[in-house]
Amino acid sequence: MKPAPAVRGLALAAALCAGVHAAPLGAQEPLRLFISVDMEGIGGIGTGAMTSAGGKDYATGRELMTDEVNTVVEAIFAHDARARIVVNDAHGDHQNLLHTQLDPRVVYIQGALKPLGMVQGLDGTFDGVIFVGYHAKAGDPDGFLAHTGTGSVKGLWLNDVEVGEGGMNAAFAGAHGVPVILASGDSAASAELSALLDTETVTTKTAETPAAARLLHPEVVRGMLGEGVARALERLERGGYEAFDLGTPVRIRVRFATTIHVDILMSIPGMTKVDGFTVEYTATSADQAYRLIRLMYRFVQT
Ligand SMILES: [Zn+2]
Repeated sequence: MKPAPAVRGLALAAALCAGVHAAPLGAQEPLRLFISVDMEGIGGIGTGAMTSAGGKDYATGRELMTDEVNTVVEAIFAHDARARIVVNDAHGDHQNLLHTQLDPRVVYIQGALKPLGMVQGLDGTFDGVIFVGYHAKAGDPDGFLAHTGTGSVKGLWLNDVEVGEGGMNAAFAGAHGVPVILASGDSAASAELSALLDTETVTTKTAETPAAARLLHPEVVRGMLGEGVARALERLERGGYEAFDLGTPVRIRVRFATTIHVDILMSIPGMTKVDGFTVEYTATSADQAYRLIRLMYRFVQT
């Protein structure tokens, strides 16, 4: 039996000190892990078409995406057979994974009409988050299909630190005390997230141009992913992660592609205009910031 992760060990000790009824000694809480899955950073995907419904080889892209999730899930269960895993589809319309081919032991969240988007379903009850298939932030010249949210976002800053989707999602997790234990994606995504977060990374490919990729074979990528998960879970057990906690408040700055987008967002009380393309807002927490940012780029469109 594996030793309890440090955080849960501390929680148990605190509960015992407080005289609260705790589980009998030796009983282990199963690991709870949240997997957020994007598509651009999946191994074997080398064109934008493969990530778009109706695009050439999109069906293959879906299979590759599903296979990578199953690889991650398999590695988690190899570590803890009782693990509880939630998989959140987090690309495009969030309807990409092939549910019938997914490991039946996971709970799967599908559909994009959700306020928390790529982190829908994530809360403080999880031990860790894994990002699969991630890409770099908008404007990164070394990234493959790099963007932040949608094409309408040209830049996003949290407390003056420029972040992409990975950083934004990690900040939400961090607000709930949950670390990102592993992130996979192209080399620019890996570099961005390992610089920003206390996390393990797996590099699935390198951008040859912003719209073409130098690929490793998907089997090779899946081998690295399995090893990455094992490495991450061993480190998690040692209590070796720090969550990406921005504290409070969290100042949001978003730069948009059009001035009309900014004009419309000024209808939100508390929003301020920095310049024609840029708005700023001070949120009470990274949780509130996340919801508002998603509202701004996903549910307000021009
Ligand atoms: Zn995506």
